Amino acid sequence: MPITVGFVSLGCAKNLLDTEVMLKHLVDAGYAITSDETEADVVIINTCAFIDSAKSEAIENILDIAWLKENRDLKGIVVTGCLAERFRDEIFTELPEVDALLGVGSIHEIVSAVEAAYRGKRYSLYLDKNEVKLGGERVVTTPEYTAYLKVGEGCDNRCTYCAIPDIRGRFRSRPIEELVEEAKNLESIGVKELNIIAQDTSRYGLDLYGEYSLAELVRAITKETEIPWIRLMYCYPDKITDDLVEEFKNNPRLLKYIDLPIQHIDDTVLRRMNRHGGRAVIEDAIKRLREAVPDITIRSTAIVGFPGETDEQFETLCEFIKTVRFDHFGAFKYSREEGTPAAEFEDQIAEEVKEDRHAILMQTQNAVVEEKNEEKIGLSFTVLCEGYDPMQKIYYGRRKSDAPDIDAKVYFTAARAIAEGEFVEVRIHEALEYDLVGEAITDSEE
Ligand code: SF4
Repeated sequence: MPITVGFVSLGCAKNLLDTEVMLKHLVDAGYAITSDETEADVVIINTCAFIDSAKSEAIENILDIAWLKENRDLKGIVVTGCLAERFRDEIFTELPEVDALLGVGSIHEIVSAVEAAYRGKRYSLYLDKNEVKLGGERVVTTPEYTAYLKVGEGCDNRCTYCAIPDIRGRFRSRPIEELVEEAKNLESIGVKELNIIAQDTSRYGLDLYGEYSLAELVRAITKETEIPWIRLMYCYPDKITDDLVEEFKNNPRLLKYIDLPIQHIDDTVLRRMNRHGGRAVIEDAIKRLREAVPDITIRSTAIVGFPGETDEQFETLCEFIKTVRFDHFGAFKYSREEGTPAAEFEDQIAEEVKEDRHAILMQTQNAVVEEKNEEKIGLSFTVLCEGYDPMQKIYYGRRKSDAPDIDAKVYFTAARAIAEGEFVEVRIHEALEYDLVGEAITDSEE
């Protein structure tokens, strides 16, 4: 009987792709994979640890799985990902239930780690994360019509609040040819939506080709595949090149969608965050994108309660959110991360103030979204169907302007059966707080 392995994959899509690569190694080595941890001999927990709440979630999951070791037949626990990397010295002491640890540079050694954990042998491996082979064959775990493509790993930006550069190492791009090959493989298994990701996707190519090459990569994927939806996530305002703006304008398969975290808008706060380029750079990037593609969808995020953030500076951010009218926006409360420069800043903000500012900023954004959603009533959109809810008797899916897992949904009825992964035209007749409701346009109405 092959050893059965279970997986818990936490954190961002970049981490999920590491899970998919590890899954492939295990399948190739003859292991059985289960999605039910209670059936597993060994469970791998691929963790996230970039902020407090992610760390807590990882530890909770480890303790939940540890219960199976006490009370079921689970033989071993392997912890991988950012928590394993960041807290390599503490985990075995504070979580003795863990058998094996793999640093982010050692994902290709997952088989050895599982072997050791299965035999109850302590094992840890921390190869150089700046040398780990990026990419590799994967067991794609997302629905067959959508997938992520990680174009690089690590980050060179060194934002003062962020632990990721220390966890994931310096930014390294993967060669265009390799990425095009992977995109073609994904297309061959039915992928219609390719979500391009990295810590800072807009930095793609600088290390490898000496210049920002994201637009060139998009062109190569567009040329070599027929994937209809190509989406860019995690772009940085100071790296929105004219070439990229032109690509948004002229490439019909590059979705008019960009994820562009700003983190704040006040120049003093941005400087203390070590965000490259101040307010002017952010406004210029948004202006150029909107001039080239007036209906481009912009998603963004900001941090509230960064050390030293004054009421006025917070007010400035709220005013900006009111006027810039992002289509999708998320706010984070500043998380004091040990080992980051900002953690040593004296003027830390009280938790309750962070809470208040977070609530105010999200209320400000919700008002923008409600207005924008009202404007969608009567319009029709191409929707990628994600499934059917038999309880509600309604289909659900996403528009081009909704990224998987983080943006809005469209709920719709249809006169005929709609398959998962099918594109369908939907006319909107109701706007909810965040999502939209509509009806599939039958062929005769088209
Ligand atoms: S861009 Fe900044 S916030 Fe994002 S991963 Fe890099 S250092 Fe962290």
